[in-house]
Amino acid sequence: MTLDSLDRAACAAMDAADPLAPLRDRFDIPTGMIYLDGNSLGAMPKGAAARAHDVVTREWGADLIKSWNSAGWFDLPVRLGDKLAPLIGAGDGEVIVCDSTSQNLFKVLSAAVALRPHRKVLILEGSNFPTNNYIAQGVAAATGGRVEVRLCEKDEIADAIDEDTIAVAITHVHYKTGHIHDMAAITARAQAAGALAIWDLCHSAGAMPVDLGGAGVDFAVGCTYKYLNGGPGSPAFLFAAKRHQGHALQPVTGWWGHAAPFAFEPGYRPQRDIRQFLIGTQPILSMALVEVGLDIHRAADMTAIRAKSMALTDLFIRLVEERCAGHGFTLASPREAAARGSQVSFAHPDGYPIMRALIAAGVIGDFRAPDTVRFGFTPLYVGYVDVWDAVDRLVTIMDEGIWKRPEHQIRDAVT
Ligand SMILES: *Cc1c(COP(=O)(O)O)cnc(C)c1O
Repeated sequence: MTLDSLDRAACAAMDAADPLAPLRDRFDIPTGMIYLDGNSLGAMPKGAAARAHDVVTREWGADLIKSWNSAGWFDLPVRLGDKLAPLIGAGDGEVIVCDSTSQNLFKVLSAAVALRPHRKVLILEGSNFPTNNYIAQGVAAATGGRVEVRLCEKDEIADAIDEDTIAVAITHVHYKTGHIHDMAAITARAQAAGALAIWDLCHSAGAMPVDLGGAGVDFAVGCTYKYLNGGPGSPAFLFAAKRHQGHALQPVTGWWGHAAPFAFEPGYRPQRDIRQFLIGTQPILSMALVEVGLDIHRAADMTAIRAKSMALTDLFIRLVEERCAGHGFTLASPREAAARGSQVSFAHPDGYPIMRALIAAGVIGDFRAPDTVRFGFTPLYVGYVDVWDAVDRLVTIMDEGIWKRPEHQIRDAVT
């Protein structure tokens, strides 16, 4: 498409030809809002309110404790894991939905430490979302000095792996830049050195094809409230390859991970399947809503999702660079779509007030310190006209200096 022919009408034509466009109707997005923050909190599926109402009034209100059996509450973590598995290249019984990403990372890192008792280094990415590194530091501290955490940046990771490495635990798509790590290559490199490969899929699950089985990954974690649209604070997931189940032990040995939870035995005995990664009673209301998001994904083709994600992000980069030229934006994401997840970041020294002005104008993205404005593109509900209109509003904010107004300088707690 030439520069001249790329206008709002051309974007509307792309929406009309988009095979995923009908899925937008399965989400409730406020009129006039362009939601480019699905990489932080996914939009609400229309079915969520009805599902929540049913769980509260019928399953809880009317059926009360019977629902642990009759409504399948007790099996929900396993059943949802099996539903999620095809999206990340996992098999039946290899994924469980429970707890938070931070907690699940603690479990799998601890399991890795136990599987490699004579090694001492956990390798993570220093610029990753900090909770991953904090959790690894906590796992290391709990060993009383046997284990240490080594933080590397992307090009150093492969060379840092050696015979002392317990595991490499990297986030597949970088939260700030959107850079995609080569999962298959890093996994192979780690395993060739006798180490384990652990992947965090927070920014890839639901946004792009992931093949944990094909890459031979050992463990993975990720959240369901970003591209999987499970709702605020919805439970995360944990993947453990079949070969590790029953061998890899995790230290948070609660009753839901016990081989016979209702035998009420005095001593802990782990389950021999994926349920060994459970701890205790799960938040059923929140968990039930995960299914609503997953069911929308089952109606979508992941190849189409990835193709649209690349097209949307390419379009956004091109329009910002052309129409905001001279306004000081520097692309902070890989330029090549194949190297980028479903988000685009730009660095700008005044990124914070610019993002506030954008949000006030109905374009929701977010800001990541010190200077990054970040935009997520969920192909299930973001269209090409949305991209055009978002950039249009950004152009007005920059051309007219709207971001310089005093109300856009105020700092909120959550950015
Ligand atoms: C979103 C995200 C998390 C979230 O962790 P919580 O335990 O849900 O707070 C963790 N790691 C990465 C890389 C993330 O992007």
